[in-house]
Amino acid sequence: MQTHLKNTDPEIADAIRAELARQRDGLELIASENIVSQAVLEALGTPLTNKYSEGYPGRRYYGGNAHIDVIETAAIERAKKLFGAEHANVQPHAGSSANMEAYFALAELGDTIMAMDLSHGGHLTHGSSVNFSGKFYRIVSYGVRRDTERIDMDEVRQIALRERPKVLVAGFTAYSRHLDFAMFRAIAEECGAYLMVDMAHFAGLVAARVHPDPIPYADVVTTTTHKTLRGPRGAMILSKITDRLRPSDKKNLAQRIDSAVFPGMQGGPLEHCIAAKAVAFKEALAPSFVEYQKCVLANARALADGLTAEGLRIVTGGTDNHLVLVDLTPLGIGGKTAETVLDEVGICTNKNMIPYDPRKPTDPSGLRIGTPALTTRGFDEREMRTVASLIARVLKSPDDAAVKHAVDGEVRELAALHPIYPEFEI
Ligand SMILES: *Cc1c(COP(=O)(O)O)cnc(C)c1O
Repeated sequence: MQTHLKNTDPEIADAIRAELARQRDGLELIASENIVSQAVLEALGTPLTNKYSEGYPGRRYYGGNAHIDVIETAAIERAKKLFGAEHANVQPHAGSSANMEAYFALAELGDTIMAMDLSHGGHLTHGSSVNFSGKFYRIVSYGVRRDTERIDMDEVRQIALRERPKVLVAGFTAYSRHLDFAMFRAIAEECGAYLMVDMAHFAGLVAARVHPDPIPYADVVTTTTHKTLRGPRGAMILSKITDRLRPSDKKNLAQRIDSAVFPGMQGGPLEHCIAAKAVAFKEALAPSFVEYQKCVLANARALADGLTAEGLRIVTGGTDNHLVLVDLTPLGIGGKTAETVLDEVGICTNKNMIPYDPRKPTDPSGLRIGTPALTTRGFDEREMRTVASLIARVLKSPDDAAVKHAVDGEVRELAALHPIYPEFEI
């Protein structure tokens, strides 16, 4: 029982209790979310939040960091082992900060960065005009083909050779297919660019070796730690030690990454988050994590199959990873309404642009759904098909209160079969 919080600040305690109930009673299908273990939660809520530890293990700008060094070193070593990486920086506060820091290490302001178009599945930090990336750099985008809805590597190569980017970015927030990392690397070499892979979404699949591995090909790999990787909110940067393009520079690539994080972009690291990252990496190194990620994939396929059977169109026709991008057009319903009515019955998703979307970003044609969170709760493929039919029932009758009431009841029953945080009380 967290009696202190309840007594000091009942307003916040009540809101936290309500959010916990929402997570317990509903079905979380947001592809970028997951449910961390009780051990990860415990590491987050510790006095480590009190400590200043600017710098890196063994070379800090503040005293009293002996124990912090043990924690951060463990996080670094586990991250390197988990991904087979030469270097790891576990201090980035978020995926967006990690990308900024990686760009700072690899390019000068105004240099050309080439990445996936936001409306085709790229992330804000891949060059959106309202994001630092679009303001600080010259952005060149690539997308997917209209007919296949997949990335066309011939087109990527053509654009890269024409535009000569300093950094070529491979990665996405809404694309359900594998990336050809070997081909990305070959193109980067041909045009003299660094290859940066942003594996924020699929890092957990990579860690479990159920997804193509970008580490051998990329100069730098950034990732969040809170998506498929199932750790605390935060990020990290993995890299080679030697700079492939500037091997004789005084500072190697790993040193430039570290300097870009601190003092380049951040001050004191969040050591309570870094402790929680270390715990999550230990969990990801266990054999059960491989089983979990296999189920994430099987569940995503079951969800895609179930939705297809209900008459929805899946962008690219299916999925190779943890996410499914649904085209709602066949049902004659927009993404905004779909997200809202699903939310009303306890099914949490997000509206999303589909490639070549005729509708506007605030009310697009698509819905992005993913299986990491429900799989953590223990949902199996049969239950994912049930979830697909619940989604379809609501989307086919968005104004029918009786249908919504019935589905809401079934959502609660399903959720109750797979409880989360049974001993957490506030
Ligand atoms: C989620 C995501 C990010 C950003 O992570 P935040 O922690 O939200 O800043 C960056 N890149 C990709 C590809 C992502 O999916």
